[in-house]
Amino acid sequence: MNIKKANMSKSTTVSILGSTGSIGVQTLEVINHHLEQFNVRYLTTNERIDILAQQIEKYQPKGVVITDDKAFNEFKSNTSFKGKILFGIEGLIEAASDTTNDLVISALVGFAGVVPTLSAIRNGNDIALANKETLVSAGSVIMSEAKKYNVKIRAIDSEHSAILQCLVGESIDEVSKIILTASGGPFRSLPLEEFESISVEQALAHPNWSMGNKITIDSATMMNKGFELIEAYWLFGLDFEQIEIVIHPQSIIHSLVEFIDGSVKAQLGMPDMRIPISYALNLPERKKYNFKKLDFKDVTTLTFEQPDFNRYPSLRLAYESLEKFGTAPTILNAANEIAVNAFLNQKIKFNGISSVTEKTLNSMDIITNPTIDEIIETDKETRKFVKSLIY
Ligand code: NAD
Ligand code: MG
Repeated sequence: MNIKKANMSKSTTVSILGSTGSIGVQTLEVINHHLEQFNVRYLTTNERIDILAQQIEKYQPKGVVITDDKAFNEFKSNTSFKGKILFGIEGLIEAASDTTNDLVISALVGFAGVVPTLSAIRNGNDIALANKETLVSAGSVIMSEAKKYNVKIRAIDSEHSAILQCLVGESIDEVSKIILTASGGPFRSLPLEEFESISVEQALAHPNWSMGNKITIDSATMMNKGFELIEAYWLFGLDFEQIEIVIHPQSIIHSLVEFIDGSVKAQLGMPDMRIPISYALNLPERKKYNFKKLDFKDVTTLTFEQPDFNRYPSLRLAYESLEKFGTAPTILNAANEIAVNAFLNQKIKFNGISSVTEKTLNSMDIITNPTIDEIIETDKETRKFVKSLIY
């Protein structure tokens, strides 16, 4: 694989968009193991200035970005940090665009990641992508711009990292399908009649992974897997009929690739995001880490089941949006983002997340081959529409 700038003989300059979140913090843990190899340029947060202050102390970035105005003002008036302190979306764009970056870690949550990630690409910066909503909302633009600027997108999502690892030394033309594994979340065996009364606390208790709140709810509805279907579609350039989803509750096999001769490769490991993060940061090399390794004496069963659309209507909506194409996934993402937020704030029930999203997907006009401005406008209009349904 041709990795443009990450020449491992010199240190790699990285900026982390969303450094105070679950992926951001774990990325810094990975960096911390081989500090001599990385140079941290920008760190960013929405409002967690307490965590940001600790990260500044430890990693001495050149600059930081804070997007929440109250947090920004509070930070500015109390800090002795001498580097750049940037504000808002303009600050994120400046950090992402900085051409001294070798690699930009895109780890914001939701549509907020689209414009900064695109700015990084347009300045020729390689991307380590956790923010799957960027590809869901704007996949066509992101991929064509990455091609135009010769930018590599390295997946951080564990399933897509698994597929990348299975594809080393292979030709994509010899792949017959890829199989994304899913844990099935906390409600895999809950009787359907109990879905009506699922609490926020229950939905936030993921059986295998510890993640930010939004992706944890997306995992409970399996919208997360739907997003990963769309993410895989853009990253690997296969037909969407070639992408399968299977529930594998143990989260040991992170995904599989089937080749035209019937051979299947899988990637296995502990459910620990630091493993795919370190793969993305060190590609094409591997580095030694002391994270807990998989012990096959503990792996007594690996099971597989088909996802049921009655249990996971959000997954069906993701398939439908990919079939409708154009801005349909943009609408899906924006509707889901508002609906998840409303569920977390106890404005709608768990089942309401998919019903509100479905109603929105069926109501909004779809643009077939959108520009980035049309995608941004669609996101804005969709949010307005969903809010009018909920509030
Ligand atoms: P998180 O909520 O823990 O962190 C999000 C980060 O973005 C924080 O630093 C926050 O300050 C910042 N942020 C939030 N809203 C913002 C806004 N409007 N503007 C600017 N900054 C904002 O989320 P996470 O779990 O780290 O997930 C990040 C991304 O990675 C998501 O797209 C998620 O789907 C993806 N992902 C996460 C995991 C995981 O294990 N957490 C695994 C695979 C993929
Ligand atoms: Mg994943």
